Order: sequence, then C-alpha cells, then structure tokens
Amino acid sequence: MVDRRTNRAIIDAVQAVYDSIGADQGAQHTACRACGECCDFDAYDHRLFVTTPELIHFASRLGPERAKVMPAGRCPYNIDGKCTVYGERFSACRIFNCRGDHDRQAALSQSAIDRFKAICTEFDIPYRYLDLPAGLASIAKDG
Ligand code: SF4
Ligand code: SF4
Repeated sequence: MVDRRTNRAIIDAVQAVYDSIGADQGAQHTACRACGECCDFDAYDHRLFVTTPELIHFASRLGPERAKVMPAGRCPYNIDGKCTVYGERFSACRIFNCRGDHDRQAALSQSAIDRFKAICTEFDIPYRYLDLPAGLASIAKDG
C-alpha cells in the first residue's frame, strides 16, 4: 500500500506514458474502428497483460465500487461492444490496433513496459506483469 501523495505521483507518471502512447497512435493514421472485438479475448484468441503501476492508476481512477473481476473471456468493462472505461484503459488497450503497424506496436509496448518498470523502481513498488483476469482480480481483492 502506498501513501496518498505517492499514489498521486504514480497516477501522474502512468498518465504521462498513456499520453505519449496517444500521441504516437495519433501519428499512425490507422484508426481503430472501436468495434470491441479484440476485448473478447477467447473469441479473438488474444491476451492482454497489465503492470502494477497501471493497476494502481486504474483502481484509483475507477474507485472500489467499479472494480470487477473477469469470469469469462471478455473484458467485463466491454459492454455492448463498447469500452466503458475508455479514459482509464490500459497501455495494451491503447497500443493494440489490428489494422496498425505491428512492429511499431511491439516497440511502443516495450517502451511502455520499460517506463512502468522505471516507475516501480522510483516509487519502490513491486513490478508485476499480469494477464487481465489476474490483474482485475488483484484490484477487486485489494479494493
Ligand atoms: S479496458 Fe476497455 S479497451 Fe481494454 S480490454 Fe477492457 S473494454 Fe477493451
Ligand atoms: S483493434 Fe481492431 S478488433 Fe480491436 S477494437 Fe480496434 S478495429 Fe476492433
């Protein structure tokens, strides 16, 4: 558990990573159609991993009352094909674009992971890299 001031600083640092991902995606000119199909992981044969600082950001922005677990293959925040936590979504949600440049996405993912690891080092929190069900379960448990 981190104190409120540290929590705030972590949220700001994660948001800075998200903002830079958004700037890169904006430069790619291959807009995602926001169909939500890739949020149904089993059907899409896809997995999504999240890191400790992102989970802190996500849990803090949502609040404990909106924490959900993931009993099935679809992200529980995808409702009727739409992301209901769009502003708080994870880096992998922001980077993945089935129509985009996959090498560029891989480089962007590695850069984001390096920055999340650096945030963990700076704020002395453990670095964890969890698949989405485990990550959401950790928030629901902690919340
Ligand atoms: S957080 Fe949003 S974009 Fe990410 S998997 Fe869930 S519904 Fe999809
Ligand atoms: S990345 Fe592709 S599958 Fe996922 S929401 Fe965008 S268009 Fe749909």
